[in-house]
This record gives sequence, structure tokens and C-alpha cells, in this order.
Amino acid sequence: MEQNVIEVVLNKPGFEYDIHSLVKAFYPECEVRVHTEGEGMPDSSSEGYPDLSLNITEEEIVLTLIHARGASSSFGAKKIVTGSGLDRSGVKNRLKQLIYVTLSEYTGKQLPWGTLTGIRPTKIPMMMLEDGKNRDEILSYMEDTYLVSREKSELALEIAQREKELLSTIHYQDGYSLYIGIPFCPTTCLYCSFTSFPIVSWKKRVNEYLEALEKEIIFTAQICKDKVLDTVYIGGGTPTTLSAEELERLLSFLKKTLDFSQVKEFTVEAGRADSITADKLEVLMKYGVTRISVNPQTMKEETLRLIGRQHTVEQVKEAFHLAREKGFTNINMDLILGLPGENEEDVRNTIEEVKKLDPDSMTVHSLAIKRASRLNQWIGENGIDALKNTDETMKIAENGAREMGMVPYYLYRQKNMSGNFENVGYAREGKLGIYNILINEEVQTIVALGAGTVTKRVFGDGRIERCDNVKDVALYIEKIDEMIERKRKLLSDPLE
Ligand code: SF4
Repeated sequence: MEQNVIEVVLNKPGFEYDIHSLVKAFYPECEVRVHTEGEGMPDSSSEGYPDLSLNITEEEIVLTLIHARGASSSFGAKKIVTGSGLDRSGVKNRLKQLIYVTLSEYTGKQLPWGTLTGIRPTKIPMMMLEDGKNRDEILSYMEDTYLVSREKSELALEIAQREKELLSTIHYQDGYSLYIGIPFCPTTCLYCSFTSFPIVSWKKRVNEYLEALEKEIIFTAQICKDKVLDTVYIGGGTPTTLSAEELERLLSFLKKTLDFSQVKEFTVEAGRADSITADKLEVLMKYGVTRISVNPQTMKEETLRLIGRQHTVEQVKEAFHLAREKGFTNINMDLILGLPGENEEDVRNTIEEVKKLDPDSMTVHSLAIKRASRLNQWIGENGIDALKNTDETMKIAENGAREMGMVPYYLYRQKNMSGNFENVGYAREGKLGIYNILINEEVQTIVALGAGTVTKRVFGDGRIERCDNVKDVALYIEKIDEMIERKRKLLSDPLE
């Protein structure tokens, strides 16, 4: 099935990315192409969709909706007066407001996050709190400048306040956190865009992978020897696809090589229920893992099969009970809303089942349609209408979390999220995932080891620089020394 196309032409370069993200948020099913003047308006519009022409001058911005075949829309042109003297960010905000208001009127859609298309909307209230702004000032600013709904503005502010409070108890500037990626899974989920490969194909090379990781761990111990290690997160992929012996090898090496004396949180994503066994949980407990994740995504059997997770609802429950039996007192569960064919009733049922298990935290994701996932192909065959996330399903999840005594504590957005919503982490007081806050607010250097991981160095002035490890596992094993050298350059002293 060929994708519908929306063409946007603007008279000068500079805002292509922002325009693309916002138009795409209104039309997730379309390909959006942004051109600057000179390229002209290509004649490839799709029936039933408007194209956009934008003209930005010193004084005003004019937006014209054009219908396929070049006929002018009866919707006409809309303009917004900017006046001269606005800086780039001021022009960008006005431009996005104009696009939002026009498309909102045209489509009848409201986007919960208004013109905000970035992945960390909580950064805005966080900065304003740091500037001493009060609740009303922050909410008005979010609503007036970015057209964010009152509900989402309040959610962002609540989370920013909670994050600020938690960060005030950690000397995160003096420390660092560690991420280790295990890029193997039992099977690949329909929506997956992470670095993940089926473990059956890599079983024979896990030893070499662990050897490469050990080299990175030794390097980390050297380069961060004067820094406090605050949190450790082992994710992936699914770390528990490693055998109990392989996990023991990795964790014992970590503990003997790095100073864990001040680690405040040690998370391992146990993730897939079909990878969790008693002996693996015992190894995690033995090496001081404080937080694990057992992720159902949904408690609907049929959906689990459809999305390619080869475990049952019953296995999720068994894995969860087993983890409790082995002594884990901080267990997170990940859910996804907007999965193929799921409706409000399915979400309600999933939440009720999760409530019976009574986890300590719950992360609620809105399905994101990633270019690299098999989901794209699935949409081509089945249409996008089967993926529905609504205000109501988001509310069902939030109410469920609050009924379990949890509060929202971190939030991020992704491109192409079902319903243009967000991912929210809920947790009971005292069970907030510290690593999640640190990475989300980008306030601490995170040293990341393993294939497909990204190390982020946060400098004293807030500047951030990144360094990627290759995604391909064979290449990662082969080029490990090169990657360590790249990381050395980024992390060389002084690690401010
Ligand atoms: S468990 Fe996570 S990393 Fe593994 S295939 Fe599924 S989505 Fe990807």
C-alpha cells in the first residue's frame, strides 16, 4: 500500500524539522515532505490531504492550505502577525502556533501536547521552577505558548516538581551512572526498534560479547576512578536471556571491578517472562540488584501472540510471583497502550490484572511507530485504525496507577506515538527509578557499555556530548578497542 504524502513548502530554510514533526503529529499515517523555496511545490499530493505553503517575513507568517491538484482550498490562508524583533525561538513558536491552530481547525483534532514535539516536555516546567516561577505562571506559559492542554500541563508540572525534589537529595553532578546493554531477546516484538537480536542466533558468541563488555568495564573503572557511581542499569534487549552462569559472570565481574559502595539503585530488566527462571533471579539477588522489571505489555493473550512475544499471561504472573518469593521488593511492570486491536475494555482488564499482582512501579507507554520496526509493515497490511490510544485509555492506566498508591515521576515522548500521548513512569514513594530521572532530565553523565548503546557526557555548563557504540554485535566484538578509545576521548579528564 502506497503511503499518502503531504507536501510543505516554506520560503526560507531553518524550521524544517519543527514543521515536519508538527504536521506529522496531525497526520501520523502520511509521509510529510518539507521543501524550501526554489524547489517548488512538487505535484505529488495525495487525495483527501492538504498541502501547506508557508511564507515567513519580518512582520508576519502566512499559511495557505492547498488541496491536491493545485486547487486553492476554500479554507484559504491564515496569518499571524509576529512584528519585527522576535528572535529565532520566538518566530518558531509563532510559526508552530499558526500551523497548530490551522490544522486543528481543519482536522477537528486537538493534540494533548499542543505544539510541543520534543521528547522531554518536563524540561520546560523544570527550568521555570529553577527560575523561581510559581504554579500559575508555569501552567499559563505551557498553555499560552505551546497550546498544551491543562491536564498535560499539570502532569508535566507535577512530575517536574517530584523530579526536582528527588534530584535535590542526590549529588548527581559529582557522580556518574552506568548502562549496560544486552542486545538479545527470545524473539523480536512487532514494534521493536531497539538493538535486539534473537538469542538463538547468538548463543555461541555470548562469551565473546561478555569479554568485550569486560574490557569496557575495566576501562570505565579507570576513567571514572575519581567519580561516585550512583546508579547501574542493565537493559537491552533482555538481560535475562543470558543463562544464570553468564549473568553470574557479568555481575561478579562488575562488582569486583567497580566501586559499588555508593550505588543507590541497581536495576536489571528481566523484561520477558519467558526468560525468567529461579536460578537467574537468585543470581540477581546474590549480587545486590535492587530493582527489576517484569514486563507484560498487555494481559491479553491474543495480543501477546500477535506482537510476537512468546509468553503467556500466566507466565507473566508466575515470573512476578517468583521474583517476589526470591525477595525482590521493587518490581516494575511495563505496559503499552494502543497495541493492535486493543480497545478500552482490554486496557481496563490489563490494569485490573496488574493491580492483582501489585507491582511497585508501572511504566505506561503509548505505542510508538518506529521506522525500523515490523509494525510499519503490519500497518501497511492492516491499516492504522487498529492502533488506538485514547484519552480514556490513558486515564484508565493513570487511575489504576493512582489506585495502587503510585504517583507519576518521569515522562518522555517519542516520535509517532499513538494518539500523540506520552510515556509515563508511575511508582510508589520510595520506589522511584532514579536512573530513569537522571537519563530523562539529562543531568548526569551516563557511561553506556554494549552494542548499540550511547554514552552521554553532561558537562558542568549543561552541554551534552554523545558517543555511540555500533549496533551490530559482531562488529562490536571486533571493534571493541576502537570504541573504548572513542569513549576515552569523550570522557577524558576532567570529568566535570
Ligand atoms: S523485549 Fe524489548 S528489546 Fe526485546 S524484542 Fe521486545 S521490544 Fe525489542
